Amino acid sequence: MEKKLQVEAIEHGTVIDHIPAGQGIKILRFLQLADANRRLTIGLNLPTHNDQAKDLIKVAETILTAEQANQLALFAPTATINVIENYTVVDKFQVTQPKSIRGVFQCPNSNCITHTEMVPSHFLVQASNTDQVKLKCHYCEKSFATSLFNELKNG
Ligand SMILES: [Zn+2]
Repeated sequence: MEKKLQVEAIEHGTVIDHIPAGQGIKILRFLQLADANRRLTIGLNLPTHNDQAKDLIKVAETILTAEQANQLALFAPTATINVIENYTVVDKFQVTQPKSIRGVFQCPNSNCITHTEMVPSHFLVQASNTDQVKLKCHYCEKSFATSLFNELKNG
């Protein structure tokens, strides 16, 4: 056993690493990773080399889609995804923020046309250097922090 392992190793699946501390739970909820019978291991507020805290999520038997990885980037722009096979990392990549995102979130602005017209929601992603990403509604042109969107996901 390697000493630096912070949580249990998985045979097949995905490790989402370098999640800013505090975002791990949001990502779990947002990607609905905790549903079904998936085996999950979560590390919260783990120490990192540069003395900052991070969250980490291991999901057995699950490979994230590119779309999920992009959506994850809205909450954790610095996250890395490790794909695990036979206890070995076979692929490792950094998430990339999408430029826009359609049909996933409801607009928090209750006066927005998307609440009365049958149009899919459409947000422009406003990149930021910090962990806080903002989404600007294409229709009402209001900006919202992604933290607002946890409860507002369509479906
Ligand atoms: Zn709107």
